[in-house]
Amino acid sequence: MHTMMDKLTHAIRNCASEQAQIVVLTGAGVSAESGIPTFRGPEGYWSVGSREYRPEEMATARMFGLDPDAVWQWYLYRLGVCRAAQPNAGHRAVVQMEATLGSCFTLITQNVDGLHSRAGNSDHRTYQIHGYINYMRCASECSPELYTIPDEVKPKQKREPLSDGDRKALRCPRCGDRARPHVLWFDECYDETHYRYQSSIETAAHAAILLTVGTSGATNLPMQVGILAARRGAFVIDVNPSPNPFSDLAQQVGGIFIQGVAGEALPRIAKSIARISHQIRVPSLGL
Ligand code: NAD
Ligand code: ZN
Repeated sequence: MHTMMDKLTHAIRNCASEQAQIVVLTGAGVSAESGIPTFRGPEGYWSVGSREYRPEEMATARMFGLDPDAVWQWYLYRLGVCRAAQPNAGHRAVVQMEATLGSCFTLITQNVDGLHSRAGNSDHRTYQIHGYINYMRCASECSPELYTIPDEVKPKQKREPLSDGDRKALRCPRCGDRARPHVLWFDECYDETHYRYQSSIETAAHAAILLTVGTSGATNLPMQVGILAARRGAFVIDVNPSPNPFSDLAQQVGGIFIQGVAGEALPRIAKSIARISHQIRVPSLGL
């Protein structure tokens, strides 16, 4: 813990003097304690007719092209799960980190559940690199505009089909074509407009600290963020109950792997950051 405090102190000083960033990168694990299942494990499966599909098959443009109703049903079911969930102690700790660090703080999240923003993180310092399930956009890309899922479209129970009213409402208000969920699918590429790709890369390249939480590193941009930050010499901390590519990375570059759940580890880290920032009284941190 001493090394962690020393390294955190050094990195926080670095943030203040060199405009470096403290970057928090979260995955589905941070929302597991709010009751939202991660993609790994049996709850990830979804049946369409008599077939079982994995998220890697459902969350694709290919599947949306073949069976848009089935894909919308899956997302509207997950929308209900996300809306019913409440932010947990891990989310609240990330809010505390932003309150302490101000403009030195960036949150990059793979989660589409919106719990970070509901907990209180500011939208302009949060990059939702896989989108947000509460929004839809034009599937024909007539504009990049996002639309809230219309109120008349209610979240679904498992196996509950779409109604004609749902189909009518899940349309682009601008051109009338089909709307799609505002999420990055497994067979699509990151971009800046919808997913803050370049911004995330730039932030990673300025990281003094990278705190990764609850991500298995299965997707491409998070791994790039990890590698870029490590190359810049960032202090890497990984929080996860299981070893994963980010815990390997942390250990390779002299960082720390905290083997545990987000709801317990993050409040302790947030407290350490607050204590250090207070001690060093860095003006640009607004203290
Ligand atoms: P993942 O499902 O691949 O992995 C989750 C990770 O969280 C695992 O490494 C697991 O060990 C860890 N974990 C489980 N419980 C934890 C806890 N209490 N505290 C800390 N860590 C915990 O998730 P991923 O890497 O984020 O990637 C899956 C993709 O699926 C993402 O791109 C994301 O967009 C999407 N997804 C999002 C949500 C959500 O928005 N909540 C949920 C499921 C999947
Ligand atoms: Zn349109």
